[in-house]
Amino acid sequence: MRSMATASLPGFRNEPYTDFSTPANRGAMEKALDRVRSAFGREYRLRIGGEWIATGDVLASLNPSRLEEVVGLHHKATVELANRAVESAWSAFPEWSRTPARERVRMLLDAARILRARKMEFDAWLVYEAGKTWPEAEADVSEGIDFCEYYAREMLRLDGPQPVVQLPGERDETIYIPLGVGVVIPPWNFPLAILAGMTVAALVTGNTVVLKPSSETPTIAAKFAEVLLEAGFPESSFTLLTGSGSVVGDALVEHPKTRFICFTGSRDVGLRINELAARRRPGQMWIKRVIAEMGGKDAIIVDAGADIDKAADGVLASAFGYQGQKCSACSRAIVDAQVYDLFLEKLSAKTRNIQVGPADDPRHYMGPVIAESARKSILSYIEIGRKEGRLVVGDGPVPQGGYFIPPTIVADVEPTARIFQEEIFGPVLAVTKARDFEDALAKANDSEYGLTGAVFSSDAGHLREARERFHVGNLYFNRKCTGAMVGAHPFGGFNMSGTDSKAGGQDYLLLFLQAKSVAAKIG
Ligand code: NAP
Repeated sequence: MRSMATASLPGFRNEPYTDFSTPANRGAMEKALDRVRSAFGREYRLRIGGEWIATGDVLASLNPSRLEEVVGLHHKATVELANRAVESAWSAFPEWSRTPARERVRMLLDAARILRARKMEFDAWLVYEAGKTWPEAEADVSEGIDFCEYYAREMLRLDGPQPVVQLPGERDETIYIPLGVGVVIPPWNFPLAILAGMTVAALVTGNTVVLKPSSETPTIAAKFAEVLLEAGFPESSFTLLTGSGSVVGDALVEHPKTRFICFTGSRDVGLRINELAARRRPGQMWIKRVIAEMGGKDAIIVDAGADIDKAADGVLASAFGYQGQKCSACSRAIVDAQVYDLFLEKLSAKTRNIQVGPADDPRHYMGPVIAESARKSILSYIEIGRKEGRLVVGDGPVPQGGYFIPPTIVADVEPTARIFQEEIFGPVLAVTKARDFEDALAKANDSEYGLTGAVFSSDAGHLREARERFHVGNLYFNRKCTGAMVGAHPFGGFNMSGTDSKAGGQDYLLLFLQAKSVAAKIG
């Protein structure tokens, strides 16, 4: 019965988005928002190896749109509990790693099915806890489902026979086996998709997991953990260890039984993890593997012959969708001098029409930024931007009661400017003039990051040049630079953007496995 579910699997296809323009779907989403709101303020304990633990040190997760609302209360882990979580995962590894891959795949497909059935409920949690607008929440949850479906199929492929040369007189094979205990540390900005993708990739490949969610979005993590348990993943296969990264992070990374760390987040935390993981600890038997996906300073080039309306729409969506809080967000528009003024005029006019306000109200294109610390940091960059360029949009009023920031455009920014070089992670776009396409390409590559980029151009030669020389992990032509789709756009960046792990692609699960070659003499 169970293996039949996997044997008859149809090919992968991306999860369709709910169309919120239909009254029925709008009504259903409003009901989901009401239901989820009535579950606000619940207390969530830590769970290590099946034991529920209350530490008494509680984190209150707030709705960034309405700060008086407490979405969830979460007990925080200590260093001692972090160590216990790794030990517990280590004890569970032998059994979980020997669970047949098809069984693990079946659980993963069940997780996808449960998520799909509870999609609007998850959308609502993302609206409230992460400040995502309805369509942004829907895209995040859909991507989470996609990761489950895609990695399930990938695991079946890797569990099957691998193409190796057969030597005469031998039976030669390569099999993939899991690594051990994985520490999974996601960010808050794709609180379901990235958290789910990293966690299930580690689990379906047979590793046990200590999942340390972001302190900004712990309720979504707790809800996803419920889904995994309901789908049949054993309690011992993963721990949800809510707590501050700066308190428990080092202990998790440094533990000698940690075999790998799968991290997505900022450059500085990623580099710290990489450095700590490289040092061998007493009793440690392996070189730890680090998968680290980090920041971006993504550019869109607008070429002289580009369709300027389409370019303005693409830049607007990339820069201000989810308040610019995507690693893939466009924070630099590099525009050919011939179309610079026209582009800036069109983009500015469109940007001034953006509605900012609570994310639960579907009239708003932009919701709040995630936290007070983010708000302060972004506002300080806007002040820097005023000195480094010309503020053309961004002075408008925003609602009170949440962490709202207006979409902001700073024009005439030089490549040496801080707002051109540093990741701001908010709705702030630097616009820079380029002499010609060659100059635009050089400016786009003038960054320590290399995550996403886009080119709007009608010149096939220029697009060919960009294909070869625009140094980013995810490059797009004549479209926005956000919105990578699982299976179609494996995602991961170059340089300080990370280890280029290409989530949602065929190379990804190999990062959670090791290959074993077995050769048997025949006769
Ligand atoms: P962050 O501050 O680096 O935090 C990421 C995660 O690391 C959180 O779970 C955090 O826990 C934890 N952490 C903090 N300090 C730690 C430490 N010393 N050791 C171990 N873990 C620690 O990043 P963020 O603000 O959540 O996310 C935004 C960043 O992620 C941006 O730079 C963005 O570009 C990047 N990002 C990259 C990608 C990609 O695919 N390349 C995708 C999404 C986001 P706490 O929350 O408890 O501090």
